[in-house]
Order: sequence, then C-alpha cells, then structure tokens
Amino acid sequence: MSTSIQSSAHSRQRTLGELKRIPDFDPRGASRSVKDELRRNLLRAIEKGETLFPGVHGYDDTVVPQIVNALLSRHNFILLGLRGQAKSRILRGLVNLLDPEMPVIAGCEINDDPLKPICRACREKVAADGDNTPISWMPRDNRFVEKLATPDVTMADIIGDVDPIRAARGGRDLSDELTIHYGLLPRANRGIFAINELPDLAGKIQVGLFNIMQEGDIQIKGYPLRLPLDILLVFTANPEDYTARGKIITPLKDRIGAEIRTHYPGSLEEGMAITAQEAWVCRDSGKIEVPQYLRQVVEEVAFQAREDKRVDRRSGVSQRLPITTLESLVSSAEQRAARTGEKSVVARVADVYAALPAITGKMELEYEGELKGADTVARELIRTAVGRVFSKHFSDVNFQAVIQWFELGGELKLPDLATTKERHQQLAKIQGLMEHVGRLGIPDRKDAGAAAAAAEMILEGLWAHRRIGRSEERGYYAEKPKHPDQRERETPGRPPRRQFN
Ligand SMILES: [Zn+2]
Repeated sequence: MSTSIQSSAHSRQRTLGELKRIPDFDPRGASRSVKDELRRNLLRAIEKGETLFPGVHGYDDTVVPQIVNALLSRHNFILLGLRGQAKSRILRGLVNLLDPEMPVIAGCEINDDPLKPICRACREKVAADGDNTPISWMPRDNRFVEKLATPDVTMADIIGDVDPIRAARGGRDLSDELTIHYGLLPRANRGIFAINELPDLAGKIQVGLFNIMQEGDIQIKGYPLRLPLDILLVFTANPEDYTARGKIITPLKDRIGAEIRTHYPGSLEEGMAITAQEAWVCRDSGKIEVPQYLRQVVEEVAFQAREDKRVDRRSGVSQRLPITTLESLVSSAEQRAARTGEKSVVARVADVYAALPAITGKMELEYEGELKGADTVARELIRTAVGRVFSKHFSDVNFQAVIQWFELGGELKLPDLATTKERHQQLAKIQGLMEHVGRLGIPDRKDAGAAAAAAEMILEGLWAHRRIGRSEERGYYAEKPKHPDQRERETPGRPPRRQFN
C-alpha cells in the first residue's frame, strides 16, 4: 500500500523521522491495536451522540447496543441472521469508527506500523534506513477486507502461500518469509477482516484462522511462520448453520467474543424506512408518484411472506424483496406513462402485481408452496397485504353504497393502458367511492391521478376482503352470494353482510 492523502494535516510526514517529530506525537497512541483504536473512537462517538451506523434502521435498541459492548470489550464477534438483515452493511459501517488515516511503512503488503514492523522486509528496512524509512498514510476505507466463505476457499486465499518464483529469484530458502505471498488475512493487518457465511469455511481454514488469532503463528506448506497480526475479526452466519454441530470448530467458536442476532424490521414503518432508503424511485424520465399506501402494501408483502407457512423461514425473506418490488412497481408506472404518453403518473395497485417477478425469486418455498406455484403464492401475499393496509385506513368506513353499486349490476374494467383521465372518469361513476379517497391521503378527489389510484386501491381492498369480485383482467363485479357466516369469518369485526343482498 502506498496511499497518501494530501488533504490531512498528517499527510505531509513522509518518513519515520518526520512522523516522530509531530508535536503531539505519542508513540504508544500511534501503536495501539486496532481494537483499542475502535474502542476509543466509539466511546468518543457515543459521548457526542453521533449515529453509530448511519443507514441502519430498527436496531437502535437491539443489535447496536450489543455491537457496542462487543467493541468496548475488544471482542471479535459474529452477526447471526437471515439474509437481507443488513449484516454486511453493519460490518462495513465499522470502518467509520477507525481513524481517518493511519501511518504505514510505504510499500508494506501487510500495512506495517512504522514503529513496530512485523514483516521481515520492513524490519530490515527500518534497521538499515532508520528515521529515513519512507511512510505513507492509509485511508480507513482501505482497512476493511471482506471475504465470502465458500467451501473452495483455500489456506492460500486466507493466510498466504509460498511463492516459488519469488523464492527462486531471490535465491532464498523457502522458509524465509520474504518468499511468502500474503493472503487476505495478513493484508487486513491493523484493520478489520470480515468473513461472511463462516460455516461454509473448511475446517482446516478455521483451524488456521484460530491459530493465527490465538498464537500469532501459522504454518504454510509445513513452514512455520510467525505473524503477530493485529486485526478485528468479524463474521456473519445463518443462525441454523452456525449452531449446527460440527460446522464451526470449537476453539474458533470460543474465540468469538459475542454472538449477536440480527432481525427483520419490527414494524412496517421501520421496514418502509429501509426500503425508501435503498430503492431507486426517483427516475429521470419524468414524475412518478408512489402513494404512501402502496409503499405500505409493498412492505406488508414482505411481512406477510415472513410469516407465511408456505415460505421457508430458515432462509428468510430478505429486505431486498420490498426494495426490488418497489423499484419494479415504479418501473411499471413508468412504462405505462411512456405508452400512454403521459408526463406524470401515479403508481397503482395494479403495478404491485406487475412487480411479481421481483417477489417470486426471493422466497424459498416449502413443499406446500411449491405445489401452488410461486406466482400464486405471491399473488395471495399481495392480496393479503392489500387487505391489511385497507383495514388500517378504513376499519370504520361503511362501503355499502359501493358494494350495492356492483350488486345492482355495475361492472368496471380497468384496462392496463387506459389513460389516467379515462380511469378517473370510470371510477368516479361508482357511487360512494371517490368520497373516501381522503382516507388514503388524497385531499382533492378531482386530482385524477391520485384519486383514481386511491379509488382502485379501495376496490382492491374490498376484493381482498371478498366483498366484491374481481377477474384476472382487473374487472370488478359483485361478489357471488355466499354463506353469510362464512363472510363474517373473512371480515372480522364487521356487521353481517346479509343486509346488502
Ligand atoms: Zn512490512
């Protein structure tokens, strides 16, 4: 590494001697371990009331305090959680707790401390050049090394390998460490090394990892090598894999100071905050508005999927499901605007169904779900989600007039490519419908785009509660008569429907 940052006051020091002459230079402070550095910066950030993990939502009372304790204890730790629970984001966020830049011996592959070099090349260099040894400043972003564990990751990848060409060229004995080609772990020296999906790492590599953390030494192809590395080790794993017997060697497990469980958002609002932050919604093509109630529906789909018996809970339903669904929904609206030639459009509930391909691939189905098919399961999840969001907004509203309109023979079809104006005119004909759009945050029922989308959401909600019927082609009609008691079961807390028949 030979990075130098000119902007910083410290960046001007280019040799070991200049480094030592910095007025407030404290050799002990400069050579403190990465865990002590994180500790000190973390305490300072907490005292200042800073947000420790910007962009991570819903963990303030659960995951974050546990990570803080692990760091204050100078522990290596593991995040146990299902996919899409921001585990990688949290680990990468640790970088912000490092010093902005750190002095290293220029050109050292393992970021040696100028005052305490561990690699042989640097020790020889400092012995020969003394205070003239060149140093460089390493920005903190370069001090985070990440590796996804897979069964084919080798010792050479993680720890290093003997480089026979280098050995031959230098005419050195193979056991000489100058012939070592360093792996990822030594290259993370004085920084943070993250291994994702730790249980997928072969037992042999786990042993190597343990040895280098515990004893600071390692054997490469039978050659002993001493490398007292200074690293914060962090891991992620799926909880079931991690606790499965034999997946993690016991001595390594013992060296992991804290097991911290992550989780999905606890509330719809938290989920929506994450989705809003991550999803690409602001398009350059024009104005596409996504009503708040549709964002609720999208998030509710993920919540429903996480609880659904037909979806495999061990693999979980990632937050990427609502994120890509929202993006796909916006694209569906964007596509409609382009086809109908409208400049600005409001996304509709039909656009959630158009986002089906963003949903189906993100759920591992159980046998029962497989039988039904991913599309059917996804459609049912959307319907349930619409029903839930509808109930939130309209629990005390009587839609008798709307239902009667259909029961008296009214039928409505909303073609995919009808313009906003056409849809608004059609929907406005239904008695008692437009007067409720205010509940969905639409102050003006003449605002065609917003009002039409809200009215469609109401019809979809009535259909979700089986109070009106709907065809695959988005035609709404009167629900076929059913057993009254069955209807009551499906819409709990509502008056009997018999009076409408
Ligand atoms: Zn070195």
